[in-house]
Amino acid sequence: MNRIKVSKNFSLHEFECRDGSHLVMLDEKLLELLQKMRDAAGQPIMVYSGYRTPAYNKQVGGAPTSQHLCGKAADISIVNMAVDQMAELAERCGADGIGKYYKQGFIHVDTRGHKARWIG
Ligand SMILES: [Zn+2]
Repeated sequence: MNRIKVSKNFSLHEFECRDGSHLVMLDEKLLELLQKMRDAAGQPIMVYSGYRTPAYNKQVGGAPTSQHLCGKAADISIVNMAVDQMAELAERCGADGIGKYYKQGFIHVDTRGHKARWIG
């Protein structure tokens, strides 16, 4: 397991592909964004999905050009925060892509380099 701490509150293993391979890519800007959100929220951030291998991305029905494929995206939730609150926080902290997934109760954030907003 990648127990290496990569910021004050995050370890590398949290961003590993969830296919059991432990493969991981992590964009520096994404980590900065998440740590900024973590500091602002004052609550732990759960990472449901970070890096995805192409095979795993296909398996979970991810978009073929998904930012998860290059370690620039994370699907997250924050303790005691609703989807809209989390999205607002991501907005304030400067996320490029923000997807709201109300049914699943998480948001997608990424550092793709330009603005994108959607509801999943
Ligand atoms: Zn996502």
